[in-house]
Amino acid sequence: MSYKKIILKPKKEESLRRFHPWIFSGAIQRKDDDLYEGEIVNVFTSSGDFIAVGHYQIGSIEVRVLSFDERDINREFWKQRLSAALGLRQALGLIRNDNTAYRLVHGEGDFLPGLIIDIYGETAVMQSHSVGMHLSRKEISEALLSVFAGKLKNIYYKSETTLPNKESLDMENGYLFGGESVDYVSVENGLKFYADWEKGQKTGFFVDQRDNRSLLEKYSSGRSVLNMFCYTGGFSFYALRGGAKLVHSVDSSAKAVMLTDNNVKLNFPTETRHQAFAEDAFKYLREMEKDAYDLIVLDPPAFAKHRGAIKNALQGYKRLNAVAFDKIASGGILFTFSCSQAISREAFRLAVFSAAAQSGRKVRILHQLTQPADHPVSIYHPEGEYLKGLVLYVE
Ligand code: SAH
Repeated sequence: MSYKKIILKPKKEESLRRFHPWIFSGAIQRKDDDLYEGEIVNVFTSSGDFIAVGHYQIGSIEVRVLSFDERDINREFWKQRLSAALGLRQALGLIRNDNTAYRLVHGEGDFLPGLIIDIYGETAVMQSHSVGMHLSRKEISEALLSVFAGKLKNIYYKSETTLPNKESLDMENGYLFGGESVDYVSVENGLKFYADWEKGQKTGFFVDQRDNRSLLEKYSSGRSVLNMFCYTGGFSFYALRGGAKLVHSVDSSAKAVMLTDNNVKLNFPTETRHQAFAEDAFKYLREMEKDAYDLIVLDPPAFAKHRGAIKNALQGYKRLNAVAFDKIASGGILFTFSCSQAISREAFRLAVFSAAAQSGRKVRILHQLTQPADHPVSIYHPEGEYLKGLVLYVE
């Protein structure tokens, strides 16, 4: 196809030769007239060689690269990318009767910048973070159905809150396919949960904590667990299966508390070890008794949504962890996380370590955690790494 053209300034193709998938506005010398946002464009070096094909967008990133080979971006292209993504999840052993939820497409990590697809059993939840992906959504969903060969019954499209300039797009969340009969119950490592992709946060469930929840399960036996920022209660039901003495789940959202209670009931209908509370984290932590818990999970929402918020965010992480260090019982284990992409692993560690030092307690690192393998990070796009966690032993 003869897509419209973008020509780079001299020497600005170097990061592209290293497969970095973004082209910034400062690298562009010239572009064809009348480009519309989301359009597919061919990109050439200043000496006229083809270098990439991608989605054009308005902003500091002007092109998100779909391919470094000169090719048509058609149904065949989407099929190839999606089937490679599915092949990887199969190789990871994530698609099983006792595990029906996983991330199929993790944006740049699956060479599909701006696209997220999570699978919950027979339902795919698709999210665009660029206008280009939004405009390609029909082709993508057709390719998805074909790659899954009849195993997919619903495709829910959920981009109302993730698209830039959404006012002009007349966007509404809804089913691109199916939607007549949906089963909201999925399974993660044998544990059931409801994923409410229509009304819930993100795509309905945080599949990125799967491995970290499994690790917590191993430490839960006989412990008193506080799952702070519980949302749908993932860490709580793993702790219960792991033999925790008691589990308290806390979230400021009453809806989250209800979701957690429902998920606990779904797995353990007669459970009496669990209670969930709708409260602000800082208030709860301040007011709780010292030594009440010897296993605490802190998994807050992203404190820094952009680079400008880094300083405040780091103070937030420090303050939050400081209370946990003050209150956790001796011999306690703290699982602490940051999902802010803008916060580096080092900066997060420093915030947590200075909170620990301030508490005067002896603290050791047991594990350093990250996102699971179905959220791969292209080495050429390190920005794709966002989840950071530490498991600390507190004496
Ligand atoms: N740990 C969860 C995901 C947490 S998402 C899981 O494994 O699925 C972050 C959660 O923090 C959201 O549910 C949000 O409602 C909650 N939250 C945000 N601010 C809060 C606050 N100040 N106090 C308590 N919870 C808060």
